Amino acid sequence: MPTDERLYSYCAELMGSPILLKLYSHDEALASRIFQLIKRYEDLLTVNRAQSQVMSINHAAGQHPVTVSLPVYALIKCAKAASMAQDSAFNLAIGPLVKLWRIGFQGHRVPSAAEIAERLPLTRPQDVILDDEACSVFLAQAGMEIDLGAIAKGYIADRVRDSLRQQGVSDALINLGGNVHTLGNWSVGLKKPFAPGDALIGSIEVASQSVVTSGVYERYFEQDGKRWHHILDPRSGYPLDNELDSVTIISANSLDGDIWTTLIYGLGVVKGCAALRHHEDIEAIFVTKNRDVILSSQRNFRFSLLDDSYRLTG
Ligand code: ADP
Ligand code: MG
Ligand code: MG
Repeated sequence: MPTDERLYSYCAELMGSPILLKLYSHDEALASRIFQLIKRYEDLLTVNRAQSQVMSINHAAGQHPVTVSLPVYALIKCAKAASMAQDSAFNLAIGPLVKLWRIGFQGHRVPSAAEIAERLPLTRPQDVILDDEACSVFLAQAGMEIDLGAIAKGYIADRVRDSLRQQGVSDALINLGGNVHTLGNWSVGLKKPFAPGDALIGSIEVASQSVVTSGVYERYFEQDGKRWHHILDPRSGYPLDNELDSVTIISANSLDGDIWTTLIYGLGVVKGCAALRHHEDIEAIFVTKNRDVILSSQRNFRFSLLDDSYRLTG
């Protein structure tokens, strides 16, 4: 990290999240170009507004294919592949269930078993029909909805990284509401689940890597003495229930980080670690409800424990 230059921070509120950009030079124009870029991608990908390219696909479910721009098509294609993988907890067609639970939004509630059973057949990833030539997406059944909420931030963080690089920036940190991406050497805090404010379990040292954390403490509500969080099991239609409070993925690309945080939630610690053995460049930090911090490997990062109520293993 250059020590002779000052660090400048730029903030914005986009994608329903606080966005933070840190640079080692004072450059309002660059920051504003980056925020514009994020906004343009949000406008294409969001499902939290009436209009976007993804919403056009959803509105046409059961009726006709919709031609979209190449980046949107490529992202949906990648998301479908991740959804079709064996034992995948990631599902791009999870929309009808997300809208039913409304976790993190007004009107959240525990749906009845009948309501969930009714929607499960509308979440089949194989019913997302792609046409490479037409660059179009067709949802085969009325009522289907694509939801890229789990990967949009990662995808956009990668585009921000590319854009910064193209503009000659070699030291920068971008935090898209929890998706952190870096150019150069940075220390990224690992949040303490359910703790108030900025309490940290530890710090993660990385160089030009993405650091994505998904935690059950991020968005949830309580009902019937249970905590219902926002990562749903596509098989059951209920929030994924396992030993994890959070999982952090360190990887070159933030899109991989986003997909893998969801996959790991579905797999848990043991199967998750086993799966990562086949993917050298995807590394995980698991934080369990028992306060164990488990590292799958430590090739592209260094972890320091800062909270001694947690135990570091692995
Ligand atoms: P955030 O970054 O907003 O905390 P996550 O990256 O943890 O969100 O992803 C959660 C979001 O992904 C949910 O709000 C929902 O929109 C979507 N989602 C929930 N369950 C799944 C799933 N099994 N597969 C794909 N997307 C999901
Ligand atoms: Mg996310
Ligand atoms: Mg998250």
